[in-house]
Amino acid sequence: MQNRIAVFPGSFDPVTIGHADIVNRTAGLFDKIIIAVGVNTQKKTLFSLDQRIAWLEKTFEHLTHVEVASYQGLTVDFCKSKNANYILRGLRNSSDFNYETHIAQLNTNLDSEIETVFVLTSPELSYISSTLIRDLIIHKGEYKKYLPEGIQIN
Ligand code: ADP
Repeated sequence: MQNRIAVFPGSFDPVTIGHADIVNRTAGLFDKIIIAVGVNTQKKTLFSLDQRIAWLEKTFEHLTHVEVASYQGLTVDFCKSKNANYILRGLRNSSDFNYETHIAQLNTNLDSEIETVFVLTSPELSYISSTLIRDLIIHKGEYKKYLPEGIQIN
C-alpha cells in the first residue's frame, strides 16, 4: 500500500497547544506528517520563519515520523513535491468550516488525488488561535499555558 503522507499547512505564528493537539491525535493515522510553514511574502508575521520552525521541531521532537518544512506557493504543489496525498486541517467552529470548505474543494479541483482530512478541535482548545496568543504576547498577558511545553519566548 502507498505510504500515507500528510501535510499540515499553516502559519504557526506561533505554534499553540491547539496545533499540537491536532498532530498528537492524528499521528497514528499517517506514516508521515509534514508540518509545513507557508511562507507568504505579503503576510507579516510576528515571529521569524526560523523561530517558528525551531518551535515546531521542539514541539514534535517526540514523534519521529513528524517533520517540519517550509514552502512557498500552492499547498497542492508542495504536497506533490513530497508525495503527500493528504492535507490535514483543524476545525474549531463554523467560520473555520466555511473558510476551509472552499480551500479544500479548490485543492481537490487542482489535484483530485489530494484529500483534505479535517479534525475537530478538542472542545477545551477551540477558542485558541495564534492570533489571540500573539495579542497576549504583545500585551504581556498570561500566554505561557497556550504554548506547547518547552517553548520559551524571550
Ligand atoms: P493558517 O494561517 O493557515 O490559518 P494557522 O497556523 O492559524 O494557519 O492554523 C493551522 C491549522 O491549525 C488550521 O487548520 C487551523 O484550523 C488549525 N488550528 C489552529 N488552532 C487550532 C486549535 N485551537 N484547535 C484545532 N485546530 C487549530
